[in-house]
Amino acid sequence: MVTELDIRPISHWTQDEKYPLLVAGPCSLETEEQTLETARLLAKDPRVHVYRGGVWKPRTRPGSFEGVGEIGLEWLKKVKAETGLKVGTEVANAQHTEACLKAGIDVLWVGARSTASPFVVQEIADVLKGTDATVMVKNPVNPDVQLWIGAIERLHQAGIKNLVAIHRGFTPFQETKYRNYPRWKTLIELKRLLPNLPVICDPSHIAGKRELLFEVSQKAFDMGIDGLMVESHRDPSCALSDAAQQLTPTDLGSMLDKLVLRKLHI
Ligand code: PEP
Ligand code: MN
Repeated sequence: MVTELDIRPISHWTQDEKYPLLVAGPCSLETEEQTLETARLLAKDPRVHVYRGGVWKPRTRPGSFEGVGEIGLEWLKKVKAETGLKVGTEVANAQHTEACLKAGIDVLWVGARSTASPFVVQEIADVLKGTDATVMVKNPVNPDVQLWIGAIERLHQAGIKNLVAIHRGFTPFQETKYRNYPRWKTLIELKRLLPNLPVICDPSHIAGKRELLFEVSQKAFDMGIDGLMVESHRDPSCALSDAAQQLTPTDLGSMLDKLVLRKLHI
């Protein structure tokens, strides 16, 4: 069934319908200094709208860096005050969501593992009910468009009108050059079923390595995507998570210069 959701258009985010929405920042916030320095560099680029940084990190196996936790929200508040950028982080349960509301975090996103869990999404939606929150919903790890739509509907039913979907690729069955397979067919299906939902692409988690970022991003724009979420770190070689796929702010700027931003509409 094709559903016209009552949601804000992409121009609500970018001031200009033709301009892509750009979310950029490190995979993880690591220290206050790394958070602020990366933000200062990104804020110099007027194409960046939202500064992203994970504070609670969903790692596949325990024992790796799992984020700095709530203190990271204080650092995001400083980024916002100093640079004027909007700030965003991932939430994966009710406590995260409450903490972000309290801290005035502008954008929350639901990660791929959480989108696959209706209980988790409902818990987040229940906390957000009655607020004017902005939520981005990554695709679930498996290519199930109904599960993706279900998560978006749960938030919409809670009254959330600022919604954006993020295509970050799907767990591959077999080895491919991508970390997460960009199944563009699923994206086309999402756009067909929810035609007015803004959708952006996260080329970082699709590519898994810097070298593939341009190719994936260009393909996303060729498909008519509304923007990008790209991981950017002041010094990717020292990153505590996803080091191989992050770009310096300068390299991100060069990549954006080269991309042909088409709005062909999916
Ligand atoms: C992230 O954005 O850093 C992240 C963990 O993403 P995903 O949920 O797409 O794996
Ligand atoms: Mn990451």
